[in-house]
Amino acid sequence: MTLLTDDDLRETRCLINGEWITGPATFDVLNPATGQRVASVPLLGASHTRSAIDAAHKAGTNWKALTAHERSGILKCWHTLILAHAEPLARLLTEEMGKPLAEARAEVMYGASYVEWFAEACRRVYGEVIPSHDPRKQLSAVRQPVGVVAAITPWNFPNAMLARKLAPALAAGCTVVAKPAEQTPLSALALAKLACAAGVPAGVLNIVTGDPAAIGSELTSNPLVRKLTFTGSTAVGKLLLRQCADTVKRVSMELGGNAPFIVFDDADLDEAVEGAIISKFRNAGQTCVCANRLFVQEGIYDAFSARLVEAVRHLRVGDGMQEGVSIGPLIDDRARRKVERHVQDALAHGAVLLQGAREPDGFFFAPIVLGDVTPSLLVASAETFGPVAPLLRFRDEADVLAQANASEAGLAAYFFTRDIARAHRVAAALEVGMVGINTGAISTEVAPFGGIKESGYGREGGPNGLDDYLDVKYLCLGGLN
Ligand code: ADP
Repeated sequence: MTLLTDDDLRETRCLINGEWITGPATFDVLNPATGQRVASVPLLGASHTRSAIDAAHKAGTNWKALTAHERSGILKCWHTLILAHAEPLARLLTEEMGKPLAEARAEVMYGASYVEWFAEACRRVYGEVIPSHDPRKQLSAVRQPVGVVAAITPWNFPNAMLARKLAPALAAGCTVVAKPAEQTPLSALALAKLACAAGVPAGVLNIVTGDPAAIGSELTSNPLVRKLTFTGSTAVGKLLLRQCADTVKRVSMELGGNAPFIVFDDADLDEAVEGAIISKFRNAGQTCVCANRLFVQEGIYDAFSARLVEAVRHLRVGDGMQEGVSIGPLIDDRARRKVERHVQDALAHGAVLLQGAREPDGFFFAPIVLGDVTPSLLVASAETFGPVAPLLRFRDEADVLAQANASEAGLAAYFFTRDIARAHRVAAALEVGMVGINTGAISTEVAPFGGIKESGYGREGGPNGLDDYLDVKYLCLGGLN
């Protein structure tokens, strides 16, 4: 196996039909920790996107004709190459996105795990023989790739969010045109570079960077695109859904959350604090599954908040490249202003600052714990996407379930209890796609990731993770006697 040099991996051109191309103009990618330019990448629009879709469409014929074993072999090779380049991939990720290097390393491994999982899964795409309603007919159902897939991904997990769309799409026999977030295109281009080295043929995987609205309009209106998979904000997800309606595309949407994190009186408080730190402060609170509202039962409210404050004091804020840093910068100025607005709103409406500073230092926000938060405050009613832990009190199970479910979002929820009957009741009653019980870390390639309500639909990973990329075709064979 030949390894790519760090320079080779730091690709700044787009991939269309197996060619690395530049565009008429470029835009800058900035390091959020330093404000310095990391690279410039092509500012492409509708016409390049159309070329990429055409290439993906043409390449689809041969790609889906490969045996599952052959596609699996290419994906396994890609997986091996990702692992072999894990360190430069992680460094690139921290440079463009800001998260601590340890988290970037974990993300690269997490992304790679989807490539391995779907390399294995695609060899088990079975059809069905159906007991017939008529002795003269034989009925069966087969599963076929949907065709060209458009993938639009966010900046908070630039490697893993893309890997977990590319891997199932390619494994199923689909071809892809992907658009990474403009803040973080380099991880996507590096992954594509490794995919080419692994033997993914020309046109099967295409990456375009540039104007989101122009690229998005083409991806959602072009009839050759048969499916859109999107991870990002609920507002953009709704827009893309509308745009997909005219050509009736299949869609998977992984949108915003507003996760409740519930600590009952009978919880193990050390475990609950540890879970809160992981769930709330990983990636500086910039994850769609992160705890957004921390509900604490009255009897342990003071004890829990004291322990949480103590734990938060130990978190170190700084450039993610520095050893020992656990909270990096926020991604950009828009993110910083949003977090600031949420904190100011809370403090102006009765919440108290238990830990942290009111004002950020540039993009660096020291982690904050807010006490006495009430449900109508912005920190509780909207997704903050920052290192802010708002604590709300609750009386009993019914009270907290009503509050937790009073949200249009339904992605993840967490709760801590040692009562097994309560664990079953609460897990059943929470209106979300994913529940962490006595844990703040739930993500794995072997489980189905996704939401309900306005958090979207479709599931990534898990036993049925290929379904979103396969159409069912029913065959009715008549004239048997
Ligand atoms: P955030 O607010 O966290 O940046 P977005 O939903 O804006 O989340 O971004 C997620 C992805 O959606 C990014 O790749 C972004 O470029 C893309 N995006 C944003 N606006 C549009 C649009 N109008 N059409 C297509 N993609 C878009």
